[in-house]
Amino acid sequence: MRNLKEVVVANYDFDMGILGGGAAGLTIASGSAQLGAKTLLVEKDKELGGDCLHFGCVPSKTLIKTAHVYHLMKYPERFGLPPTEVKPVDFQKVARRIQSVIATIQKHDSEERFCKLGARVEFGTANFIDEHTIQLNGKKYSSKIWAIATGSSPSIPPIEGLDKTPYITNREIYSLKQLPKSMIVLGAGPIAIEMAQAFCRLGTKVFVIQRSEQILTKEDKDMADEVMNVLSDEGVIFYLNASVISAKDMGDEKEVVIKTGQGKTISLRGEIILVAMGRDANLEEMGLKEIGVEFDRRGLKVDRRLRTSQKHIFAAGDVTGEYQFTHAAGYEGGIVLSNAIIHLPRKADYTFLPWVTYSDPELASIGMNEKGAKAAGIKYSVWVEEFKDNDRSLAEGEQVGRIKLILDEKEKPLGVQILGPRAGDLVSEWVAIMNGGVKLSTLASAVHPYPTLGEINKKVAGTFLSRKLFSEKVRKGLKFFFHLKGRACGGSGGELI
Ligand SMILES: Cc1cc2nc3c(=O)[nH]c(=O)nc-3n(C[C@H](O)[C@H](O)[C@H](O)COP(=O)(O)OP(=O)(O)OC[C@H]3O[C@@H](n4cnc5c(N)ncnc54)[C@H](O)[C@@H]3O)c2cc1C
Repeated sequence: MRNLKEVVVANYDFDMGILGGGAAGLTIASGSAQLGAKTLLVEKDKELGGDCLHFGCVPSKTLIKTAHVYHLMKYPERFGLPPTEVKPVDFQKVARRIQSVIATIQKHDSEERFCKLGARVEFGTANFIDEHTIQLNGKKYSSKIWAIATGSSPSIPPIEGLDKTPYITNREIYSLKQLPKSMIVLGAGPIAIEMAQAFCRLGTKVFVIQRSEQILTKEDKDMADEVMNVLSDEGVIFYLNASVISAKDMGDEKEVVIKTGQGKTISLRGEIILVAMGRDANLEEMGLKEIGVEFDRRGLKVDRRLRTSQKHIFAAGDVTGEYQFTHAAGYEGGIVLSNAIIHLPRKADYTFLPWVTYSDPELASIGMNEKGAKAAGIKYSVWVEEFKDNDRSLAEGEQVGRIKLILDEKEKPLGVQILGPRAGDLVSEWVAIMNGGVKLSTLASAVHPYPTLGEINKKVAGTFLSRKLFSEKVRKGLKFFFHLKGRACGGSGGELI
């Protein structure tokens, strides 16, 4: 007689519960529901969409476009146009445009849409009361699997007096009632730099205070310095190697006292202080410690399959503290779906995760930069092409920037950085090349349309390959086989094409 084994199947309310309705949570919710899992999505704010839609990517890129147009309007002569009188910016109108773009995208992230997909959406602040159950608005909801996708918030440093001084973060900056006359930006990461340039272009006097010796510290110094030079030329004032000593509310103005790299104490006055000094994971008061989920200030501790220390609780997005970008959150959401719902084990791999700082010119990266290669002790070579040698770039009035292709000893691409117009779009070709293991010779021989900025991708690969093609060895071989007669003009040797 067969032994019948009793299987106890716990009866949870849901198959998949998700905390956080931003890029990561929405990816998991839509996938999970469409795959047939009974799905609960919990969002703390009053609308879905998360930071990217409401206080991040969407408003910042909308503002950046407005600032770019205004910047072009101020200098029509650069394009051979007559000078025009440019009126001051009415920030309320700018803020309205920002809100209208958000509202348009919001429809895509609406509660109704997710309900149609099959997910139940609840609003409120949830906390775990055991490993499978949360409490929300006085009710209990249990789920077999959970995903924490609660995002991150601006880090507020313990600066003397800052707690008593009004300041803003990315949550308030897009809905200011008027354009500030002056702004002191604490930090010089991507958010700080994008906002510093945009507000400076709109007419605000901007100061940027940075602890270290360069802005955009993850980037190679030469690229970051060039971004800084552009912003400095436009009027942004930078203090590098500077520490913030204190902040004080002076009424209409706020005072920030800094110690410069040269040891001088300086008092800066600004109408507004923007704090952009990194991000903290949103993990407060969720009862995670009590249920044995490990985390620190940077974020949840996860393995490469994005499981927390409780294997049925996954994490994705900014809350892991890893790569804090919307596309990373979406990617991680997909990894969670694969592991948790499809049961196809998949590990997160960030080797070729691209990122972009939307300064003008943009700075885009994929793979390792020189800093990363040096830190990893990898021998590398760098191949460079300048935008001033790209015909389309000149026609567009864009001369700043370059592409850097970094190759390892075996001449395989380690990474690419592009500083230049539309760098964020240009890096996409490298996303396909590097993820697809496409040979540089394929890129160099593929016909690109002329005149386009994208030709710079082909050109940098060609520059590297042409050294081999036009080598003395090849020349000698061709001369020997086909009786070529050699140089028709003087000089000892030519420049590589
Ligand atoms: C100014 C700015 C500009 C940016 N620009 C870009 C850019 O151009 N490109 C890019 O790729 N990235 C950009 N980012 C980063 C991007 O916004 C984030 O990486 C992305 O939003 C992360 O998605 P997420 O789902 O992890 O978190 P979020 O989008 O923040 O979503 C988390 C959600 O969880 C909710 N939540 C929090 N706590 C709880 C709780 N206890 N219970 C339930 N819900 C909770 C929050 O309300 C939020 O809606 C920018 C960020 C900022 C601040």
